[in-house]
Amino acid sequence: MGIKTKQIAIYGKGGIGKSTTTSNLSAALSRLGYKVMQFGCDPKSDSTNTLRDGTYIPTVLDTLREKSGVNAHEVIFSGFNGVYCVEAGGPSPGVGCAGRGIITAVELFKQQRIFEELDLDFVIYDVLGDVVCGGFAVPIREGIAQHVFTVSSADFMAVYAANNLFRGIQKYSNSGGALLGGVIANSINLPYAREIIDDFAEQTKTQVVEYIPRSVTVTQCELRGKTTIEAAPDSAQAQVYLALAKKIAGHTESKAPAPMGVQELRDWAGKWGKYLLALETGEIRQELTANI
Ligand code: ADP
Ligand code: MG
Repeated sequence: MGIKTKQIAIYGKGGIGKSTTTSNLSAALSRLGYKVMQFGCDPKSDSTNTLRDGTYIPTVLDTLREKSGVNAHEVIFSGFNGVYCVEAGGPSPGVGCAGRGIITAVELFKQQRIFEELDLDFVIYDVLGDVVCGGFAVPIREGIAQHVFTVSSADFMAVYAANNLFRGIQKYSNSGGALLGGVIANSINLPYAREIIDDFAEQTKTQVVEYIPRSVTVTQCELRGKTTIEAAPDSAQAQVYLALAKKIAGHTESKAPAPMGVQELRDWAGKWGKYLLALETGEIRQELTANI
C-alpha cells in the first residue's frame, strides 16, 4: 500500500446514490489535481460508467476467470480527467461469495504494487452497503480502506442500512478495521430531511460531511453518460461535489461510531414519524428547522 495513498470506502444501500456520488467525488478530486482510482465493488459493475461516457468495462473477476496471469494494467481503464477506473465484478451467479471476489480483486492490485506504481493519492471503493452477509464488510474488516463514508438519504431504509454499516465498523474497530469518516447526506431537499439526518449523525456520534440536493442536473448529466463535474462544471450541483471533495481530501480523523440498537432505532424513527405527522396536520406550526 502506498504510504501516501488514502483509501476510502463509500457504502450505502442499493440505489441510494453511491456510484453517482463516488464518480462525482473522483472527478472533483481529479479536478483538484489529485491522482485517483475508483474501484467499483458492486456486482452490478456500473460504478465507473459516468466517468467513461456511459460505457462498461471488463471486470477483474471476469478477466481472471478467462485467463491466468492477469496483469493489473489490463483491468485499469482511463476515465474523465485521467481517473483510473476499475470494476471488481461479481462471483459467478449462484456460486461464490462477493466478499471473496473483492479480496481477490484487491489482492491482484496489492501484489503488483499498483497503487505505488501509479503514485495514487486516493483509491475510492464504491461498495454495496449491506453488511449483513459479511462479504461486503471485507474492505472494512481486512483493513483495505482506512476511512469509511456512508451515503444516506433521510429515508428510513437508507438510515437503517447506514446504522447496520456502523455496527459492522464498530465490530472491527478494535482489530485494525476501517473507521467512520461520516455521512454524505444525499437527496436532501427539504429542511426536515436535513434535520433527520443531522439527528441520526448526532445519535450515532458521527458527522454529516456534506448535504447533496437531489438535482435534475445530475439526471441530465447521467443520461448523457457523464458526471456533473464533467458535463455541468459551472452548475450549483458541481460546486457541492467540489466542496465534498475538498472536505474528503482534508479529512484525517475517523472514529468508531455508536450505532443504535434495533429498538432504539425503531423508537427514534417513531419519534420523527410523529413529528412529521404533526407538521402535516398543522399541529406544529413553527419553522421546519425546530428541534423535536
Ligand atoms: P447506487 O450506486 O447507490 O446503487 P446510483 O448512484 O446508481 O445508486 O443512483 C441511483 C439513481 O439515483 C441514479 O439514476 C442517479 O442518477 C440518481 N441519483 C443519485 N443521487 C442523485 C442526486 N443527488 N440528484 C439526482 N439524482 C440522483
Ligand atoms: Mg452503484
